[in-house]
Amino acid sequence: MNTPTPALFLSQVERRYRQGQGTLEILRGVDMAVWPGEIVALVAPSGSGKSTLLHCAGLLERPDAGEVYIGPQPTMDMDDAGRTRLRRLEIGFVYQFHHLLPEFSAMENVALPQLIRGLDRKMASTRAQELLSFLGLGERLNHRPAELSGGEQQRVAIARAVANAPRLLLADEPTGNLDPKTADHVFATLVALVRASRLGALIATHNMELAARMDRRITIKDGLVVPL
Ligand code: ADP
Ligand code: MG
Repeated sequence: MNTPTPALFLSQVERRYRQGQGTLEILRGVDMAVWPGEIVALVAPSGSGKSTLLHCAGLLERPDAGEVYIGPQPTMDMDDAGRTRLRRLEIGFVYQFHHLLPEFSAMENVALPQLIRGLDRKMASTRAQELLSFLGLGERLNHRPAELSGGEQQRVAIARAVANAPRLLLADEPTGNLDPKTADHVFATLVALVRASRLGALIATHNMELAARMDRRITIKDGLVVPL
């Protein structure tokens, strides 16, 4: 059998921000991998660099040094257009706030990334319907975000993130705004989705109970990723 390829591999990733006269060293040579079908919890105090790490992994920010592999593909030498294309095809991102388009229905919000990729309308809405039904939103297809509860909005955001069947799902405190029971339900649907699709997931969370249910827990300590 071939050696499996990680969904995400960071090698010696460094990220610093200029701050007045000095620099903030946030990531100091991060090495880490997320494997297909694996859910990894990223648990670290506020300000320690979780979002920075996710933005680098999601090709939203370019590290100052190191390499970010999405599947087998190194990305540091890619131009912005190439990185955007790769992000659209291979990476789904879920934020703490859903960022759904308010004028569009749940189904349209999930269909949209597929249309941007070039799928025809019928295939995109069929996939959107299937995904939303899988996430328990079969009865909410034509609701707009404002007509959905917080947990439902986040589940639509998750469906949208995986609409193009990405290799990697990155989530930045995706249940941070939800009450514990709703957070639990959203997380359970997320887990079911990852298990069904074999994508790799890296999820930043403050919720230790949820983190305990993921496959592995990591943290950021002195700018490095270490097991928790
Ligand atoms: P977390 O998500 O763990 O709360 P962040 O990755 O958002 O942490 O931020 C880590 C540190 O980097 C914080 O001290 C933050 O103020 C700083 N930081 C983040 N983004 C920038 C930026 N664009 N410019 C300057 N400093 C930043
Ligand atoms: Mg953050």
